[in-house]
Amino acid sequence: MQPAFSIVKTLVPIAGSDQGFPVRRIFCVARNYAEHAKEMGGTGREAPFFFTKPADAVLPAPIGGEGAMSYPPKTADLHHEIELVVALGLGGRNIAAEDAGRHIYGYAVGLDMTRRDLQAELKKLGRPWDVAKGFDQSAPIGPIHRATAVGPLERGAIRLEVNGVERQRGDLADMIWSVPEIVAILSEYFELQAGDLLFTGTPAGVGPVQRGDRLVGSVDGIGQLSVRIV
Ligand code: MN
Repeated sequence: MQPAFSIVKTLVPIAGSDQGFPVRRIFCVARNYAEHAKEMGGTGREAPFFFTKPADAVLPAPIGGEGAMSYPPKTADLHHEIELVVALGLGGRNIAAEDAGRHIYGYAVGLDMTRRDLQAELKKLGRPWDVAKGFDQSAPIGPIHRATAVGPLERGAIRLEVNGVERQRGDLADMIWSVPEIVAILSEYFELQAGDLLFTGTPAGVGPVQRGDRLVGSVDGIGQLSVRIV
């Protein structure tokens, strides 16, 4: 048989440009807002920990439009986690927090969709989270807004509505580990590269979604992400 290879780079639209941002890797920070850490059973300021999703788990929503995410198999408890996503334009290792801004290409609104029932089971067994976090279309993302246009995002509301009802609300200033700190710490573990996306954690209020639900997430300064579960 002929293998049907598909080597299409995942591209995320860039606001104000006809270029796409080619995704290299997706790194995610767990428990980065105190209230969410508490709802997941954490205590206080723990060192950040990371997990990854495959690059092609990205589901880019068209600029000004709505993405369509298929309800995934093997779960009865698909959860939303609204997050600020940082897109790197310059790589490096052992990046100092005060230099992190130079490595940031832009920002987007993202969702770290989670098969919570599988995650709870995996946690109990001490097993890796991949099947709970890294499934197909598990990373819906809005357009990337260039840092040169929106400046460093250090504070501002981050919100999620499901069918017009607010489910999550936080402020970027309430991150336990700031964006520059995340870049610095992650770059001790990996040589970061242009094209890497960092999902920076979710505020409190995570919960389930169903087929037919409309999710609208927003972060002050970089607009909205709209996704329908189909
Ligand atoms: Mn998350």
